[in-house]
Amino acid sequence: MKNNNNVTRFLQAVSLAAITVVSLSAIAADKVYRLKLAETWGTGTPILGDASKNMARLANEMSNGRLEIRIDSANKHKAPFGVFDMVKAGQYDLGHTSSYYWKGKVPNTLFFSSMPFGMMSTEQYAWFYRGGGMELMQEVYAPHNLLSFPGGNTDIQMGGWFKKEIKSLADLKGLKMRIPGFAGEVFARVGASPTNIPPGELFTSLERGTIDALEWVGPAFDLRMGFQKVAPYYYTAWHEPGTETQFLVNKRKWDSLPKDLQVILETAFRVAAFDMYVQAMDANAQSWDTMLKENPNIKVRDFPEDVMDAMRAANKALLSELTEKDEQAKRIVESQAEYLKKVRAWTDISAKAYLETSQAK
Ligand code: CA
Repeated sequence: MKNNNNVTRFLQAVSLAAITVVSLSAIAADKVYRLKLAETWGTGTPILGDASKNMARLANEMSNGRLEIRIDSANKHKAPFGVFDMVKAGQYDLGHTSSYYWKGKVPNTLFFSSMPFGMMSTEQYAWFYRGGGMELMQEVYAPHNLLSFPGGNTDIQMGGWFKKEIKSLADLKGLKMRIPGFAGEVFARVGASPTNIPPGELFTSLERGTIDALEWVGPAFDLRMGFQKVAPYYYTAWHEPGTETQFLVNKRKWDSLPKDLQVILETAFRVAAFDMYVQAMDANAQSWDTMLKENPNIKVRDFPEDVMDAMRAANKALLSELTEKDEQAKRIVESQAEYLKKVRAWTDISAKAYLETSQAK
């Protein structure tokens, strides 16, 4: 009898423990993680601003409500170019921004947006995901307690809006232009005066003459800003052949998330990035279709040959100086150059050949 009592007590204890384990894991599975995201873009910015909203919705639905992401636009946090520091410090858990805004902070981040005369969007995605680009990007961000993921591509960007026509290299001398990243460096080397200005201040700066020219993105992004009203010369691409935005993540916060939520976030980043790329292509095509009909004052131009030659030479010199100064920059430049060589040979015989031969002459 005594033994039976012991057995009963033992079984009761076991089942109590089992219930405790089950309910604890149920609590863990139900725990809601509330994350805050700061974006560089102002409230209601189309396409760029849609990426984080799309990502937050996907993450919330895939996690069955366990991930709740609040998005603060630049109008709220007032620091469009402070996203790097705010996510690094943990003031925000996530950011949506672009890597080439951290010029004065961590120069090697500039390689992960878009390179003048560099890879186009699909070529660059292949480099990120299959060609070692992601590993190099994480290496650059890691010392800053940050992870960085591709966050959506604008595709080829237009060369920008100019108040006066650029007829030769001489017309660039002293020209004040908003143009970020290495493209700004290249512009400086051919005699212009580059600067970076937050998206929300672009039109006013151009209208008031603080700058003579600017580049933003492409027709879908640019026309609604009104640049064409004050700077009607619209130039074709050279400087941002496939600009990637980035989702930044505070590394300590990332490490505190359960593995399944990390996978869900990573998947949401990747799907939102693809959606933004598709949306940009579609919106640019639609805007281009109506742009000249609705704005007959716009004059579309290619940069003259001497300007392109000078910029290509300046870019080459800049890259070779960067590789001499910094071992990490050297590895990134070499990785990009090797990949570009390989992937462009394929682009030439596939996409370029198709574009040239498929159109009626
Ligand atoms: Ca741009």
